[in-house]
Amino acid sequence: MQLYTKITIALILGVVAGLVANALELDPLTRLLIAIEPIGTAWIRLITMVVVPLVFASLIVGTASLGDITKLGRIGSKTVVYYLTTTAIAVSIGLLLSNIVRPGAGMSAEALEGLRSSYMAEGASRVELAQEAPSLVDVFLNMIPRNPVEALAGGDMLPIIFFAIFLGAAVSALPMERRTHIVGFFEGLNEACMVMIHWIMKLAPYAVFALIGAVIARFGLDVLGSLMVYVVTVLVGLLLHVILTYTAALKFLARRAPLAFYRKVRGVQLIAFSTSSSNATLPLTMETAEDELGIEKEVSSFVLPLGATINMDGTALYQAVATMFIAQVLIGDISLTVQFGIVLTATLASIGAAGVPSAGIIILVVVLEGVLAGSGVDPAAGIALILGVDRILDMCRTAVNVTGDLTAAAVIERSEYEHALRGGDR
Ligand code: ASP
Repeated sequence: MQLYTKITIALILGVVAGLVANALELDPLTRLLIAIEPIGTAWIRLITMVVVPLVFASLIVGTASLGDITKLGRIGSKTVVYYLTTTAIAVSIGLLLSNIVRPGAGMSAEALEGLRSSYMAEGASRVELAQEAPSLVDVFLNMIPRNPVEALAGGDMLPIIFFAIFLGAAVSALPMERRTHIVGFFEGLNEACMVMIHWIMKLAPYAVFALIGAVIARFGLDVLGSLMVYVVTVLVGLLLHVILTYTAALKFLARRAPLAFYRKVRGVQLIAFSTSSSNATLPLTMETAEDELGIEKEVSSFVLPLGATINMDGTALYQAVATMFIAQVLIGDISLTVQFGIVLTATLASIGAAGVPSAGIIILVVVLEGVLAGSGVDPAAGIALILGVDRILDMCRTAVNVTGDLTAAAVIERSEYEHALRGGDR
């Protein structure tokens, strides 16, 4: 049986077990599902363990094999422009849908009070966490590590990327006999990481069952009722972004058959969905890009780690819908100017969101403070409204985030290919 099929079965079994425990209030089953959750957490740690050596090694190999450093500048600027554009499109889709559906318009005072009393304290703690989030300027400054070993030790992706590229570029400037040694070493390390990923992925079905079962068993099904329209609006938005934006990008920019592409990346989407973390999914994303999609390392080793860190279309779209929902519930409709502010803030804020579970909600506080501050909305009260369903939406937006990264890799690779066909930098 294919690994993908096994993971799908595990996912379905996990959902069913969780739902049975939850809906029937079967305490022993809930306790069992929660007791086996550490199996899933252990697996996430295993795969996350590979992230730093893999990104570091593959970026050095990728950069050193470029041959020409201006190519990196070109790939870099194209990637950032593409990421920002697709994120802005995602936010706009979220806004458009929220204006049409108006998910917050019909909420009863009773439901509002219920959500407030259950989640207000948790909402306030998220707001506190958000105070520690670095500003955008700091995000850029922090990209340059004072000490690369510290960045590697802390798993800080942007400074690791920065240093690996710098080192890779320096390696490519060395005389051939020196270069072969160092590149050979990192090639070996990169391949060993791929072997580890294969081993770890064999355990994925068990982990997926353990993770999903516990999430669903714990989920407050009762809050779903009052937040249904909001949840469906986010989900439809995410789906539209994939169907419209990514399919168009794949067809017209990457010149690939979208359906075949989606078939190859569905394993990555499932793992992103189950772990709620672009970072934990990154090893599989990189492996799939190279082995299944045949994307060159010089593109994938740069575009994908960068994407897992700064490109979050799903998160940005979710922030747009969440902001509109909160505004509609607490203060009513908001003006187009404020909505334009949401496009800017949510696009930029999603850059600062880390690829870990629930990062999006912390960044949502920043967006709420940025765009709704003048209207007297208390961010904690806003966050309290949507916290109950956040985990489920986190899973879905993470699946979209990684799909966006892989689509970008395909688009950038194609554009590099066409650049070469046109005669390159002659
Ligand atoms: N969990 C998301 C990710 O890792 C970030 C978020 O939206 O919370 O991509």
